[in-house]
Amino acid sequence: MSHNNRIITIANQKGGVGKTTTAINLATALAAIGEHVLIVDLDPQGNASTGLGIDRRDRAVSSYDLLMGTRSVDQTVLPTAVPNLSIVPSTMDLLGFEMEIAQQPDRVFRLKRALQEIALPYSYIILDCPPSFNLLTMNAMAAAQSVLVPLQCEFFALEGLSQLLETVNQVRQTVNPSLDIQGIVLTMFDARNNLAQQVVSDVRTYLGDKVYHTLIPRNVRVSEAPSYGKPAILYDLKCAGSQAYLQLASEVIQRERRRKAAA
Ligand code: ADP
Ligand code: MG
Repeated sequence: MSHNNRIITIANQKGGVGKTTTAINLATALAAIGEHVLIVDLDPQGNASTGLGIDRRDRAVSSYDLLMGTRSVDQTVLPTAVPNLSIVPSTMDLLGFEMEIAQQPDRVFRLKRALQEIALPYSYIILDCPPSFNLLTMNAMAAAQSVLVPLQCEFFALEGLSQLLETVNQVRQTVNPSLDIQGIVLTMFDARNNLAQQVVSDVRTYLGDKVYHTLIPRNVRVSEAPSYGKPAILYDLKCAGSQAYLQLASEVIQRERRRKAAA
């Protein structure tokens, strides 16, 4: 079955670079402008689920069941406080997925199959990955049309990025030939930090227009929001971080439109 939704995976093998924050706030921004959005939480830590206010007691079924093939998307999805935004939450069960499924020939295509098995009423599906190139991330890369990479403005950023781009190339040669880079978003930018300025300029030199114009600033409101179970955009729409994520969403949509026109 072919569907009209855009599937974007948020990936970076490093932890703490802003993947989940980007997944939540990009998804919220897209929903706010009328897109119907689904987040699939693929991290056993479940930060996207918690950050969207999903109580652990409400996670009886989760992305684990989706990957195991025992539940379909409509049986695992939960609404969030954001209109037009739903989530398939995750639990620690995901830690077992890799071991339980390692021998199966279709182990990388579990998520792709789950997202294709029924027609889904979402225009965007955002996948939040764990901080490693494990089977969960591979499932996301196999299911997605494009990868969005959050990159923290710090010294080792470029090194990690080249590993990631290599992995995307490997994925293209094996499980997903049409996987595209949606873009690279620089996160937690602090204009007073000279090193951060240097990283921005290096990344732009190296990757050119793959890098979004939007810079996500380091912003305390953004880091406070998850403890209220809210996206920053709901918690404080006016803060610089929320405004940056709204701007990022419009860049993402522009790129998707251009892609569609070229197809
Ligand atoms: P990842 O999913 O890559 O591990 P997170 O999105 O969870 O990263 O972010 C790591 C930490 O940094 C979290 O505590 C988060 O609240 C914080 N954080 C992320 N983006 C920002 C930002 N723009 N400003 C301030 N803190 C941020
Ligand atoms: Mg995360």
